[in-house]
Amino acid sequence: MKNPIYEEKVNKFMAYIMAKNPAELEFHQAVREVVESIVPYIEENPIYTEERILERICEPERVIIFRVPWIDDKGNIQVNRGFRIEMNSAIGPYKGGLRFHPTVNLGILKFLAFEQVFKNSLTTLPMGGGKGGSDFDPKGKSEKEVMRFCQSFMTELCKHIGPNTDVPAGDIGVGGREIGYLFGQYKRIRNEFTGVLTGKNILWGGSLIRPEATGYGNVYFAQEMLKTRGETFEGKIVAVSGSGNVAQFTIEKVNELGGKCVTLSDSNGFIYDPKGIDSEKLKYIMWLKNEKRGRMKEYADKYACDYFPDERPWGIKCDVALPSATENEINGEQAKTLVKNGCICVSEGANMPSTPEAIEVYLAAKILFGPGKAANAGGVATSGLEMTQNSMRLSWTREEVDGRLQTIMKNIHKTCHKYGTKEDGFINYVDGANIGGFVKVADSMIAQGAV
Ligand code: GLU
Repeated sequence: MKNPIYEEKVNKFMAYIMAKNPAELEFHQAVREVVESIVPYIEENPIYTEERILERICEPERVIIFRVPWIDDKGNIQVNRGFRIEMNSAIGPYKGGLRFHPTVNLGILKFLAFEQVFKNSLTTLPMGGGKGGSDFDPKGKSEKEVMRFCQSFMTELCKHIGPNTDVPAGDIGVGGREIGYLFGQYKRIRNEFTGVLTGKNILWGGSLIRPEATGYGNVYFAQEMLKTRGETFEGKIVAVSGSGNVAQFTIEKVNELGGKCVTLSDSNGFIYDPKGIDSEKLKYIMWLKNEKRGRMKEYADKYACDYFPDERPWGIKCDVALPSATENEINGEQAKTLVKNGCICVSEGANMPSTPEAIEVYLAAKILFGPGKAANAGGVATSGLEMTQNSMRLSWTREEVDGRLQTIMKNIHKTCHKYGTKEDGFINYVDGANIGGFVKVADSMIAQGAV
């Protein structure tokens, strides 16, 4: 984005956003990325300026902040802060995950809720955007402490959500266990068995493929990108970060397609296993992370591979990188290393894992870059399919859900292609996803008046 007229408009708008939302750095980062894509588009379509769509879309419809007191195993009172950002309901009920992590604050959740609006729009399903969570750290807490926390959190949240109002799900620190405790408390207080949360257990209203969906969806999206250059996953060396739900099912799908995943990470460091993380090792990781709730260092000890404390895997030579941990986990220098080592594709399983400097490096090198709001939309898309099944009181087979997920990821790729293809044929998926996600929401907002 080098046009000085556009640059001036972006800077002016960002000055307004920064003054209005001080100290919310990640929110500023997410807004700037979108606005850089959108400004040239709205210059050609002045209705969006007349309708003040940018100002409106950056202002949450509602923000709920609440106290979450709970009793730890020693009988002491603990206090955390709970949030729900109801960002935009132009195309459907607010929809988006809950994150339980000590780094959670208003700015982090606003960035996530903002991204969610565009991501959900790209899925083509009728879902608005929201996000919530708490600065509660599930790490090191007992089962009962997690349960008491979830119950207290839902005691307040249940006043604000509902299957036609706002439908939360999981994110970092919120998996099947937490969704169970949250659902149980909602049902108890509201006396309603309803699809108010997604990511539920298959026994009580969940959807098949929902656990797999974010990881599988990201691989399907990367597959579509690779196809544009006549490439496949067959024989590719793949660097994956994270070790939670997204990373685990990313590995499963890459293995199925003949690629080899050689890295994984957690907040303490990363493992490098040049022989590849096969299905047996993956089974161990699932046990280690989902049941034992241990650390990746234990994998390195068990399989005698290298472990790099306090580092990220981007220095390892790979063909494809699938960041699946958290925001800002690849900086400009690391992106340069990836490109220098021959990486041809970066597809984001996490939300905003690449810094703006890293994105600049990918785009300058013209490698395939799938931003999270397109590439990881398979998770929330399958949440949308869970909502549909709940409404019908029916459940689909694995094949049915997986087939729909694949179609959705292909369609998101098509949308990016439509809005992101440049004169020289290069597909800028950042512009494609931002403009493609924006148009549907903006047009719906206009149709519904100044609300
Ligand atoms: N937390 C996931 C995301 O970032 C999933 C949200 C959902 O399923 O509602 O999209």
